Amino acid sequence: MTQSSKLHELLKVHFGYDTFRPNQLQIIENVLNGSDTLAIMPTGGGKSLCFQLPALYLEGTAIVVSPLIALMKDQVDALTANGIKATFFNSSQPQAEQQQSLEDLKDGKLTLFYVAPESLFLIESILREIKISLFAIDEAHCISSWGHDFRPAYTKLGILKAYFPQTPIIALTATADKATQDDIITQLGVPNADKFLSSFDRKNLYLDVRSGQNRLKQILDFLKNKLDESGIVYCLSRKSTESLAAKLKSAGFKAAAYHAGLSADDRSQIQEDFLNDQTPIIVATIAFGMGIDKSNVRWVIHYNMPKNIEGYYQEIGRSGRDGLPAHTVLFYSFADVIQLRRFVQGTPTEAFQLAKLERMQQFAEALSCRRRALLSYFGETLVEDCGNCDICKSPPNYFDGTLLAQKVCSVITRLREQEALGMVIDVLRGAQNAAVLEKGYQQIKTYGAAKDVSWLDLQQYIIQLLNQGVLEIWFHENGRLLLTPLAKQVLFEGAKIQLAHLNQRKEIASKTEAE
Ligand code: ADP
Ligand code: ZN
Repeated sequence: MTQSSKLHELLKVHFGYDTFRPNQLQIIENVLNGSDTLAIMPTGGGKSLCFQLPALYLEGTAIVVSPLIALMKDQVDALTANGIKATFFNSSQPQAEQQQSLEDLKDGKLTLFYVAPESLFLIESILREIKISLFAIDEAHCISSWGHDFRPAYTKLGILKAYFPQTPIIALTATADKATQDDIITQLGVPNADKFLSSFDRKNLYLDVRSGQNRLKQILDFLKNKLDESGIVYCLSRKSTESLAAKLKSAGFKAAAYHAGLSADDRSQIQEDFLNDQTPIIVATIAFGMGIDKSNVRWVIHYNMPKNIEGYYQEIGRSGRDGLPAHTVLFYSFADVIQLRRFVQGTPTEAFQLAKLERMQQFAEALSCRRRALLSYFGETLVEDCGNCDICKSPPNYFDGTLLAQKVCSVITRLREQEALGMVIDVLRGAQNAAVLEKGYQQIKTYGAAKDVSWLDLQQYIIQLLNQGVLEIWFHENGRLLLTPLAKQVLFEGAKIQLAHLNQRKEIASKTEAE
């Protein structure tokens, strides 16, 4: 039997599926080859199978490092139900259960062993005695202090490769940001890992961005014809989850608040009631949902703007996992931006986080297809507008902005992609300030090419180019502007660019509301 047909058989027997999802087979074969692997797949894309099948195929036990203690048990139960020998080990287990897990691991009969990163080093001596098929590092972005789920214990995982150089490592994440990917590879000590990047497009999610004015009323209207549908409202603070949940309840909805301030028992009860459709609506901080596998979440509302696009994408991605239409709403208000800025002030990564926040804000203010903007952030190009977002549904008026786009791209080329937005605008406008003159930028050929456009307008047009995926920002060094492959098409291959006339941005709530 060939490897591929054996894998298909395992897929059918243990999971009941006939075909692999995009990239799954390639990833699995790469692991079976003994190669280190980085798998980047959107939430719901089917990452678990990428290490579970190799675990079944290979001899020995697969060690799965997972930060989600609350979910380990669910995953192990699901595997056990499929006839796969698996168990887990973490600090929240009763002592006797921990002992049993370790015994099972020593016996060497387990196919998969789930362990929290903090507990991994308690089992080091056992790991040296047994046969390990592979290491799977789930939610691998937790290793990166750039990311929003940073887990210090993950940074110790680098020694796995040093201790077990022959054992393949597969790292999995739904965070596609280029810098985070590099960070994962570096910190795990697997410079030659093969990278598999799956499409991040979730076509069934309707992307809707609205002004944050009268949010409560908007939410009640939105929920009118969604009585029994499951959904999640994300709020910034614990307090607002509770007050909004109370308001929804008094309006007759079955809703519960969820945040890290609740007891572990309360949290798991709320989570269970949500999974069983007992409580269809959860009003939560972002503490809720990491790894939750509920297929029929029909909507996600961001009551407050998330602090970056990765977070936004992950959170909306918890809806529509069954592939059926789901509606996502982002409420955008300037007051939220101010508050989010305050959160990062004084932190070691302040500049980086502010740049990501600004990009999130630009997305919320986009005047072109949201999905294009979202995917271009992850380095993916959508050939056509999506038709399934608020902008596609009611587009603003556009003009042919190709010439202006060419000027912008040309200046960025001549600045060798070394400069951030402000300098690019200065050069386009032929500014004579010290920074420009010091660097000798007045000598480049396209200096002053867009003098006729005001500074603020240029800024808005360039943000449109960012959202359309013509440009991107390199967050790790002062937000330099870079050209994407689409920019090359604009410069050299006659690609046309539509820009929206300005002053058509949606009414944005600028005042703090007393909701
Ligand atoms: P992720 O970890 O990427 O968020 P999961 O591994 O939890 O995603 O998979 C999401 C869902 O897709 C699960 O319900 C899983 O059983 C299902 N799934 C995974 N692979 C396949 C496949 N090849 N065919 C059909 N369903 C699949
Ligand atoms: Zn669209």
